[in-house]
This record gives sequence, structure tokens and C-alpha cells, in this order.
Amino acid sequence: MRKHIFNAGPCKLPEQALENTAEAVKELGNAGQSIMEVSHRSKEFQAVIDEAQDLFKELLNIPENYEVLFLGGGASMQFAMIPYNFMNKKAAYVDTGSWSTKAIKEAKMFGEVEVIASSEDKDFAYYPKVDVPKDVDYIHITSNNTIRGTEIFEDLDTGDVPLIADMSSDMMSRKIDVSKYAMIYGGAQKNVGPAGVTFVIIRKDMLDKVVDRPIPTMLKYETHVKKGSMFNTPPCVNVFGVKETLKWVKAQGGVEEMERRAKERADMLYGEIDRNPMFKGTVIDKASRSRMNITFIFEEKYQNLQDDFLKYAADNNIVGIKGHRSVGGFRASTYNASTVEDVKELVNCMQEFEKQHA
Ligand code: PMP
Repeated sequence: MRKHIFNAGPCKLPEQALENTAEAVKELGNAGQSIMEVSHRSKEFQAVIDEAQDLFKELLNIPENYEVLFLGGGASMQFAMIPYNFMNKKAAYVDTGSWSTKAIKEAKMFGEVEVIASSEDKDFAYYPKVDVPKDVDYIHITSNNTIRGTEIFEDLDTGDVPLIADMSSDMMSRKIDVSKYAMIYGGAQKNVGPAGVTFVIIRKDMLDKVVDRPIPTMLKYETHVKKGSMFNTPPCVNVFGVKETLKWVKAQGGVEEMERRAKERADMLYGEIDRNPMFKGTVIDKASRSRMNITFIFEEKYQNLQDDFLKYAADNNIVGIKGHRSVGGFRASTYNASTVEDVKELVNCMQEFEKQHA
């Protein structure tokens, strides 16, 4: 029996994508070879990566002057690659918690970091207002904060200053205007597919802005653009998983439908968090509440029941609701493949627990 999966990433993926990828592990089409065996230089694999890139472009309405790359190293590698390639003197970062803090740490190795907005004053429990400076090489934001459960829903207008966004945990969950961004990147392991592949959407003119410094070949965007993400051997099975996940998104009605479902799930769960006297949300500004990572805690007097609630949920086939180890409490990650039924089950547990303890 399949559990109600609320993991933060890797996370629940569409069953169809799992089944089709499992089939391809046995045999890729009629190739007489598995996706694990076929050469990445074969026409069969080329068709797989082409389709994954085309689906990205179609689902997000990506303009012609952008490239879609599939790389290794996770979003964490991008934290270093971005300043390595694009930071000449100074870059602006928005600090919204652990992931942006990690990105800032890497950037400091390459030049001056100006933190133009931060929510640290309130323990990262809201998304700060961003004012755009003019004299920086780029602006970096984390659009959804997987640990703190905050999200920005607008595409910032940064004018001529390149906007770079880590969208690891909200990519494909809502419509975005890609033309507002110079680059968007993320680890695939939430809404895009299995872990092990990183997506990068990069505007082609960014390659003209690369700083004049020696950069190792594998860490240059130009290398991967020129070689169609196949300078080295790509993670073939993961790219296949991405293709199947995006095929499912398209078949369901695309990102508009993903957005509708995300709102429905989030409204249901936040509704219960706000109603149930045992729980409270951790994000202080309701407009900043993430639809992907819903964070909540027990009211003070119930906090000793935390482990009991986790056990009660686990007994009801709910997995993945323990908050990140750095913040505690609870976090239900409701990515694209998560269903209203999954959320209903969690809400039922919260209500039953209330009957027993409140
Ligand atoms: N950014 C965000 C917003 C994330 O949620 C994560 C991972 N959960 C990362 C970056 C790091 O990604 P990776 O593990 O792929 O390096």
C-alpha cells in the first residue's frame, strides 16, 4: 500500500512517472537495452533528453532566447557556479533562510555580497520586501524556502539587473514569467523528478556576461550550453524520470492546473492549522505562506505531545511531516503529486488527535 508521502525532497512523484521509469529500467522502448545501459550518445537517449527539454520549454512558455540544461551537483553546486561565472565585484542576495544563507556563503568567496533584504529579524517567518539596487552584477533570490515555509508569488521586476532564482521547491507549481529572470535553477527532486539532476534555465545573453577569470571547464555554463548538457555523461535514469514527471504535469493540464491543486491543498491544510486549537502556523505573514512546504507547530501547552503526534500520523500511513532538523515542529510538503486525499488524511489525524488531547 502506498503511503501518504509528505517528504520535503526527494518526495512523492506521480505513479505514472514511477511506473514508466521502472519499465524503462527494464527496457527503453524497443531498444533491447535498459535506460541504465543505453549509451548517452545514442539516438534513443538523445530523444529522451530532447523531450525533457521540450517539455520544460512548453510547460513554462520559455522564450526562444533561453537554454534548458540538466546538470549534476544539485542546486548546491549552483550556489558556487553562479558567482564563479557572473560575480565580478558585487552581487545582491535576498536572505530568506538556510538555502539562501548557503548561497551567500559561496558567493562571498568571489566578491562582495550585499544582502538587500532579509527576514532574519523574525526568524525567517515572512518573505521580505525586495528593493532593487542598480550597481550589482545580479540579484539572487530563493523563491520558496523549503525549510521555513515561505514563498514569493510574484516575478520581481529587476529591470536591467539580472535576476537569478533558486526555484528548487516551487518550480512547476505555478505560472511564472520566465522573461523576468536571467536564470532559474533547482534540484529536480521536488516537482520535477527524481534526485540526481539539476535543472538550469539560462538566458543566452548571460554567457556574454561571464567574468574574465579562469573557471574549471565543468563549472562553466558555456560548456554545458555548447554540448547540450552532454559535455560529460548525464544522469540518464534521472533525466528519464524528469521527462516522465513533466509528461504527467502536461497531461494533467500543465502548471495552471498544478497551481489550482496547490492552492486547494494548501487552503485545506492551513485552514485546519488555523482552526485547530492545538496547532499554529510558523509563518507570521499569511501572504508569505508557502503552498509547497506547510510548516506548523504545537501550541506551547501541547509541545510535549510532538512525538506522540508523529507516531499517530505514522500509524495512519502518513510519512514525512517532521519539521527540518534545524527548526523542529512539523512540515507537510505538498508538491505537485500530492493529492487532496493525502491532505484530508493528515487533516483527519489532526482532528482525531484534537479529540483525544485538547
Ligand atoms: N535550494 C532549496 C530551496 C532547496 O530546498 C534545496 C534542497 N532541499 C537546495 C537548494 C539544495 O539542493 P540540492 O540538495 O539539490 O543541492
